[in-house]
Amino acid sequence: MSTTLVTNITNLVTNDPALGEGPLGQIQDAAVVLDGDRIAWVGQAKDAPEADRAHDAEGRSAIPGFVDSHSHLVFAGDRTQEFNARMEGRSYSAGGIRTTVAATRAASDEELEANLLRYLREAARQGTTVFETKSGYGLTVEDEARALRIAARHTDEVTFLGAHIVSPDFADDPAGYVDLVTGAMLDACAPHARWVDVFCEKGAFDGDQARAILTAGVAKGLLPRVHANQLSYGPGVQLAVGLDAASADHCTHLTDADVDALAHGNTVATLLPGAEFSTRAEWPDARRLLDAGATVALSTDCNPGSSFTSSMPFCIALAVRDMGMTPDEALWAATAGGARALRRTDVGRVTPGARADLALLDAPSHVHLAYRPGVPLVREVWQRGTLLG
Ligand SMILES: [Zn+2]
Repeated sequence: MSTTLVTNITNLVTNDPALGEGPLGQIQDAAVVLDGDRIAWVGQAKDAPEADRAHDAEGRSAIPGFVDSHSHLVFAGDRTQEFNARMEGRSYSAGGIRTTVAATRAASDEELEANLLRYLREAARQGTTVFETKSGYGLTVEDEARALRIAARHTDEVTFLGAHIVSPDFADDPAGYVDLVTGAMLDACAPHARWVDVFCEKGAFDGDQARAILTAGVAKGLLPRVHANQLSYGPGVQLAVGLDAASADHCTHLTDADVDALAHGNTVATLLPGAEFSTRAEWPDARRLLDAGATVALSTDCNPGSSFTSSMPFCIALAVRDMGMTPDEALWAATAGGARALRRTDVGRVTPGARADLALLDAPSHVHLAYRPGVPLVREVWQRGTLLG
């Protein structure tokens, strides 16, 4: 194992208040020592220990790699026409997912994997070093299991989302589809997944169906997370908190009781502003959640229908501009917050023992991610101690 000293970092976000200033634990004139795929040392450059080789950050700032805790990247085709129609004034509903289901079923394994890799590389260039991704565009036993098998080759954070919508094959028998999801489909999918998820929404699955699916997944050893309260008020958030889900995702329409539940439970509120941007919908109120004491994560929700962005910097800019977050809060939510939403302690931070994931920015600090929206500031990405080319 060889060590690398990354030095001449003008401002480093560690996300550990014990290591530096403020809630983000920032260090000026910093250096980091990487040992294999782990971080061995963090501090001021003048105090840095010797390493096998040195890498000059040339005065850039550095942050933990982004942890994108919510994406849907195993799919084929796109939905350009639907986006165009929406921008001409038509509204978004859960039903558009069927278009992607048809294209995904028709695609070969090779096509699906090539598409996944394309978006992973795109995300990595923008600083994402950890990502979660889901099934949900197959909706048959075989197609869901193959999506998870393909995803599991590229990430540990794989989510079974057979309950994305009721399969078109069960249009007249939603109860029959819930039986399939909790039975044969779960049996085939559980070995390839860490998480189980449900789209709890009008037009998808109601509270009772969602509870049955999540409970069945938990019984098979999967951990729950929920698409909750995106398009309307509903039972999703309370269900997530009640089941101690790692994350309730979207959280756009929340009652005071929902906010209170998130503030007092272990469930992270994961906000996905790319979805509101791409559907011209009302923003989730991050300020309200943060002021109540809830833990907030930011993620892309990258998918071909409602949020076709892989860019965490874009989501940070939206969260700061339109959701009441400060640049510091948004950076934390996109790194440490994402790690919390995946119940991970080894990522989303730059601390000794953590995974050696770093993004170097062509900017004096992370604040520029919101201050200079749309500008490709991510210059270098280190993932598991390797500089990505
Ligand atoms: Zn989603």
